[in-house]
Amino acid sequence: SPSLFHFYSKPVRRSVDGSNARRIHIDRCVCERVPRSLRAEVTVCIVACVLQLNIVEGKRQYLYDEHGRRYLDAFAGIATVCCGHCHPDVVDAITRQAKRLQHSTVLYLNHVIADFAEALASKLPGDLKVVFFTNSGTEANELAILMARLYTGSHDIISLRNSYHGNAAGTMGATAQKNWKFNVIQSGVHHAVNPDPYRGAFGSDAEKYVRDVQEIIEFGTTGQVAGFISEAIQGVGGIVEVSPGYLPLAYDKVRKAGGLCIADEVQAGFARVGSHFWGFETHGVVPDIVTMAKGIGNGIPLGAVVTTPEVAQVLTRRCYFNTFGGNPLCTAGGLAVLEVLEKGRLQENAFVVGSYLKDRLRGLQEKHEIIGDVRGTGFMLGIELVTDRQLKTPAKDEICHAMEHMKDMGVLVGKGGFYGNVFRITPPLCFTKEDAGTLVIYIGGVCL
Ligand code: PLP
Repeated sequence: SPSLFHFYSKPVRRSVDGSNARRIHIDRCVCERVPRSLRAEVTVCIVACVLQLNIVEGKRQYLYDEHGRRYLDAFAGIATVCCGHCHPDVVDAITRQAKRLQHSTVLYLNHVIADFAEALASKLPGDLKVVFFTNSGTEANELAILMARLYTGSHDIISLRNSYHGNAAGTMGATAQKNWKFNVIQSGVHHAVNPDPYRGAFGSDAEKYVRDVQEIIEFGTTGQVAGFISEAIQGVGGIVEVSPGYLPLAYDKVRKAGGLCIADEVQAGFARVGSHFWGFETHGVVPDIVTMAKGIGNGIPLGAVVTTPEVAQVLTRRCYFNTFGGNPLCTAGGLAVLEVLEKGRLQENAFVVGSYLKDRLRGLQEKHEIIGDVRGTGFMLGIELVTDRQLKTPAKDEICHAMEHMKDMGVLVGKGGFYGNVFRITPPLCFTKEDAGTLVIYIGGVCL
């Protein structure tokens, strides 16, 4: 089976092959046969369909495995590496900072942190001026949800079905896909019908979907809510673009119920959508809180929450801090990322090459029955594979085989969606037209 369980082990005394290997790969069938005693010795970091690859080096849109084999990377570490792998300006900025100051506690100010906060705020509209740094997207969303609850005095959060917002208690609650949930208490979250133009019951009819938000407020809460969190394009959910016109209507309902609107830009932010710097801008809304990670640091562990001074003051009532969030190493890298995006005109590239790629993929859809839908914008594109176009039957096995074939041919893409049948194309933003052409040839090859 091309599906693999990927275990990262702590140094183990015994491993599957009897060696003292630090990392072991076990396929799904073997996994079931692994004795419980051995399972207890390994720390499971990823349990997903992953490709059996040992990547040791990256250079812009290419990754290299332990044998020096080159792969065209059309996934960018899950839409993370925006400038390209190991961009020299980002590497230099981090190295220079590492030689000067690696860490200053939250008790002191450091100009690199302040400069980056200012640079980030300048990228956002309205009164979104106060920046909190975190280490990840999950932490950023946890903080955003906490702020909304503190600010409004309400506990009720509304999120969209099929969304992914993280894997800690609060964010796992907001995440609305069984694939990413564990059975732990996730209170106070209501999941609204997903405004999904391809699979949703109401097609692209934003007004019909928004009625569900209104009904949640009326029938599931006191009439007051803490907030509404959504991605502009659901990434993990399979590159689902929220129906045009939905967000302004949903924001309106939520604000009338006293809630704050949170834009989860962890995946769509940092120029990935091409036409704009942030995904929410494509919907013409201005959120009260914006969360970000992934592209913010080109792969270094960094996240942020940006909000208004009025909302931010809720955190001054008590002690709130994050030891590593906004570490000078990461913020120096973040500053360099913003410069590289601007100097290299990578947003423009995402728009131009992304549009070209989408057109070419739509061309493939006309030829190959298995391609049920091509969607997304910029360098956040999805190709949904189905075995029957009318019934939209998810082509789950086919996509795993296709990914495996593409890997063997030296091309890496991601996959996702509720049924796991959507190719996720989220390359580094330096991906060229030529790369796009290559990708189309390979995707065409596996869709035959
Ligand atoms: N929000 C979105 C939209 C994401 O795609 C992800 C991760 O994929 C997260 C939040 C969680 O971010 P992290 O994995 O950095 O905790």
